[in-house]
Amino acid sequence: AKVRELLHSRIRDVADYPKPGVMFKDITPLLADPEAFAALTGVLAGMCEKFGATKIVGLEARGFILGAPAAVQAGVGFIPVRKAGKLPGATLAQVYDLEYGSAEIEVHAEDLAPDDRVLVIDDVLATGGTAEASLQLIRRAGAQVAGMGVLLELGFLGGRVRLEPTLKDAPLEAL
Ligand code: IMP
Repeated sequence: AKVRELLHSRIRDVADYPKPGVMFKDITPLLADPEAFAALTGVLAGMCEKFGATKIVGLEARGFILGAPAAVQAGVGFIPVRKAGKLPGATLAQVYDLEYGSAEIEVHAEDLAPDDRVLVIDDVLATGGTAEASLQLIRRAGAQVAGMGVLLELGFLGGRVRLEPTLKDAPLEAL
């Protein structure tokens, strides 16, 4: 509970960003505070161990910042899921819908093995579109989903419900 309070206190609300009417959750004050960042890394590494994950997948870009130190601390490999066109090797790609238009993400297929159990990490779960596409990529690569961990869940956007069919029995934990 103390850690959650510390983390919460280091998240800044920015009104009308990136457009009018949106309250943006800014995690940069948390990253700038070494005590809070270390606490978050510890909690995510613990989640990795609790879920029995063998790999952490981080979602571009803030999922990289949170997922990479957690992977090092937990002693598992880190795999980036990137926006299309950034990875040089053979990739699996997944297209998903945005409010206006669509987006595409990719992963290096060879980094995921069938016996891998993957913990997916991102900073914020909003509508769940990004997370859903990432989970689909992991399943298409033949690996197993160990769970999903996020710092913040914006519950009113319904991401958790949207992810249910893709997560199946895998847990979603929001700190
Ligand atoms: P979704 O696909 O609608 O769930 O959006 C999630 C993605 O958008 C994540 O990769 C987040 O980093 C980003 N995102 C959405 N809202 C916020 C916010 O308020 N703060 C920071 N990132 C956000």
